[in-house]
Amino acid sequence: MLDKVTSTVAERRPAIDLHSLVAELFPINRSLTGAGVRQTLDIIARYVDLTIHEVPTGTPVLDWHVPAEWNIRGATISTLSGRRLVDFADNNLHVMGYSKPFHGVLSRAELARHVHTLPDQPDLIPYRTGYYADDWGFCLPDRLWRTMTDDSYRVEIDSELKQGALTYGEFFVPGETENEVLITCHICHPSLANDNLSGISVMTALAMRQMRQTRRLGYRFLLLPATIGALAWLDRNESRLDRVAHGLVLTCLGDSNGFHYKQSRKGAPIDRAVAHVLKHSGHRHEVLPFSPYGYDERQFCSPGLDLPVGCLMRGVHGTFPEYHTSADNLDFVKPDRLDESYVVIEQVLDLLDHDRVYERVDGRGEPQLGRRGLYRAIAGQREAGGATQMDLLWVLNLADGKHSLLDMAIRADVPFARIEAAARLALDANLIRPSEARA
Ligand code: ZN
Repeated sequence: MLDKVTSTVAERRPAIDLHSLVAELFPINRSLTGAGVRQTLDIIARYVDLTIHEVPTGTPVLDWHVPAEWNIRGATISTLSGRRLVDFADNNLHVMGYSKPFHGVLSRAELARHVHTLPDQPDLIPYRTGYYADDWGFCLPDRLWRTMTDDSYRVEIDSELKQGALTYGEFFVPGETENEVLITCHICHPSLANDNLSGISVMTALAMRQMRQTRRLGYRFLLLPATIGALAWLDRNESRLDRVAHGLVLTCLGDSNGFHYKQSRKGAPIDRAVAHVLKHSGHRHEVLPFSPYGYDERQFCSPGLDLPVGCLMRGVHGTFPEYHTSADNLDFVKPDRLDESYVVIEQVLDLLDHDRVYERVDGRGEPQLGRRGLYRAIAGQREAGGATQMDLLWVLNLADGKHSLLDMAIRADVPFARIEAAARLALDANLIRPSEARA
């Protein structure tokens, strides 16, 4: 069994080295806006023909406004004698996102109001943002902060908040139909590998794959600064949202936890598709009900939109100790785990694309399989792990214009690909035909 899973992964290699892409993006200082987001999108644009959108500061998007653009060149805390103790150049997590410029000498007590540490994880730097706070802050290991006992320190933050833009990336692969699969990830975290870069990397490889596939559905890939980016895209695309047939938010796909799939708010086919693939994947997994907290599924599943969008992750935000700390680094994200995540999502996309409703050409009684060479065809498939006779019987029984192939696979409790292979045999033998009932 294990051999089989391993060989499946080997056969389905992503077109790019996922961990290398994570490593390339890792040092860049991303935030909701600014040069780091653009630099990240420019790198992704080497692999796919990305459209890069700029939404000006102040633009209203649903109930929000696009914030000022934030950029930073450097930031330090030094002793009065000039020894640097904390430097943004060493780790971009050291500065709270959206810190406003500051230059001055502060007492330790005054500085303490701007310092964030993790006393329970004293060697790690926390990740903090203050997007709408009009403030500044530093994040440092608690162990370092405890050694800082001088009366005063010099603080320099060379940052800028200006009229600029919010930047997001979009890549669309058209299908035969108007229906689309929406796949999104967030791109607003600085040097955090699992939380944001794993999703970006896996999504880029999936976009490259879908370009080369024969497709019934269209695939829309969005690289968004969390919340405000999703709101901006929704605001600009509201008239076209009825095309979204399925959607997945991708995040935290490179750690070694089992998979977690968070269902859509409304209960949609994507929920059954992901649950089915995970069940037959051999990986540890858990299906979680929708909740109004997490990533951009919060926006896509808001009541006035209620899109069929779920969220796939391995470790769940806030539950693993590396989350939003400097330990979410290139060692925490494993190449094999990224590849596994890619394969799972690839199977989900194939399932969504190939799921059809069929009906028997003549549904009265069982057809005679031997006369049509189907026993021989099934025997040939067995070697390759294809359809069994039982799979074919399920297809021939449930092809009634009411059951989709996924319905059949769930009822038969076998992988979708086997039911699909059985349906192909039945189709070739002219025993079933596509039904108009439901596509
Ligand atoms: Zn996060």
